Amino acid sequence: MENKTPQNFDGLGLSEKLLLAVKNAGYEKPSPIQVRAIPPILAGRDIFGCAQTGTGKTAAFALPIMQMLDGRGHYPAPKRFRALILTPTRELAEQIDANIAMYGKNLSLSHCKVYGGVSQNPQIKLLAHGVDILTATPGRLLDLFSQNKLDFGGVEFLVLDEADRMLDMGFINDIRKICRELPKKRQSMLFSATLSAEVQSLAKNIVDNPEKISVSPDKPTVDKIAQKVAFVEYGNKFDLLEKMMKERLEKSADSLALIFCRTKHGANKLAKRLCRIGIEADAIHGNKSQSARKNALERFRRRESHILVATDIAARGIDVKDMSLVVNYDLPEDPETYVHRIGRTARAEADGEAVSFCSADDAPLLKAIEKFIRKQIDPLADNPFHSEAAQKAGTLKTSLAEKLAQPLPKSKPQNGGKHPQGKRRQKPQQNQYYGESLPRKKGKSAQAVVEKIGGKKSAQKIGGMLKRKMKAAGFKPQTEKPRGKPAKSSFWQKLRESLRK
Ligand code: AMP
Repeated sequence: MENKTPQNFDGLGLSEKLLLAVKNAGYEKPSPIQVRAIPPILAGRDIFGCAQTGTGKTAAFALPIMQMLDGRGHYPAPKRFRALILTPTRELAEQIDANIAMYGKNLSLSHCKVYGGVSQNPQIKLLAHGVDILTATPGRLLDLFSQNKLDFGGVEFLVLDEADRMLDMGFINDIRKICRELPKKRQSMLFSATLSAEVQSLAKNIVDNPEKISVSPDKPTVDKIAQKVAFVEYGNKFDLLEKMMKERLEKSADSLALIFCRTKHGANKLAKRLCRIGIEADAIHGNKSQSARKNALERFRRRESHILVATDIAARGIDVKDMSLVVNYDLPEDPETYVHRIGRTARAEADGEAVSFCSADDAPLLKAIEKFIRKQIDPLADNPFHSEAAQKAGTLKTSLAEKLAQPLPKSKPQNGGKHPQGKRRQKPQQNQYYGESLPRKKGKSAQAVVEKIGGKKSAQKIGGMLKRKMKAAGFKPQTEKPRGKPAKSSFWQKLRESLRK
């Protein structure tokens, strides 16, 4: 179907109150996903949407849901909620809830968010009276459910946002558990940036005869992002970053950049180094408390810091207006993560730039990304630290580059999660809680890996033999960081006991 974008929101079926809210939010015309999702949602259809990041997905589902909740006029019962929006990260939950507050200014709908890493008491208090719209991460939601602090019986609308990310983070069992508790009669929407076979199979159990909406499925990267690769020796990465940032800040003192590092330690080190040369920077990653993460984001939004150095925890949650540069200081190990990282810029029709640093050692990662996005990334023109060796290692063979430039055959627009070259795409090993890569433990026994990684990782990322043993021991996969020591130790104790048997 053609992605024809009308010039304004009139005609999508939205009420005057919501049209006013949209106008006050500064949205002049609806984005393609909004044009295609709002009318069928208002007509009561389930939705299965594939949309790139930053395409205006939140308004696409939130506006019609809010209109219908408002129109039905009843109130939520205590501990119940009428719309449930599930998201993988706390930052995303914050963001969606903030958007709902903005769109709902002229309506009298209540809303709140529930996620881990912060005290549960204020969340329990809000839920006690019942809310119209609840945005939640699955772990904390189930935690509160197990304490009988909430009741799924009142859900009229379910939204599963970033479904692919939910699967990557090991939330699948939690989602299934939640869906089992939900009323059968409900309207459901599932959104995902990619359409892997796993996402499609999950969708089967969640949405019923859905309207399928796909916005540019063959082009995983946002077109408006100017993507560049800087071939540079590992030891020169910082100097290149310093030069780039100083030039940008000279041109515009308000300039913001998001820099991705592979490790939490690397992110901390880089932020400190930038501060030492007079460029205000904060680090944001999973070892920081929720309040430190929130403060860092607020400082960045207020332009008190110009650089946010992040691990992949930030890849899907951050939406900062006019953030015009993303730097991949370390390339991601999973090509899909690249798409989500660079999608932090060029939000909402704005332009953006993404520069990826590539040393000779990073060359295989760059090649994997280029194969995934089906495009060869141009080298950064102004790079005094250019490394010939890195470029030689990182440049695709001409024949392959030409092949990637060809459009995908029309008969296979979506390839069911398979790599464009026909192989199955490898799932990254990811940290359950923070979306960061696990160290690879080649040659070590599965048990040694479990011992080493301690209580933080999910059973789903561990081998089949261990999974079966865990199941036999009555282990339930954990999806949020366990709170308090006892739960953690009893789980690992249980696992070790079962392994000894
Ligand atoms: P989302 O993809 O929902 O995270 O939205 C990305 C950004 O686009 C957010 O900052 C929204 O406020 C903004 N946005 C959503 N819809 C529109 C629109 N129609 N026009 C301009 N900005 C929008």
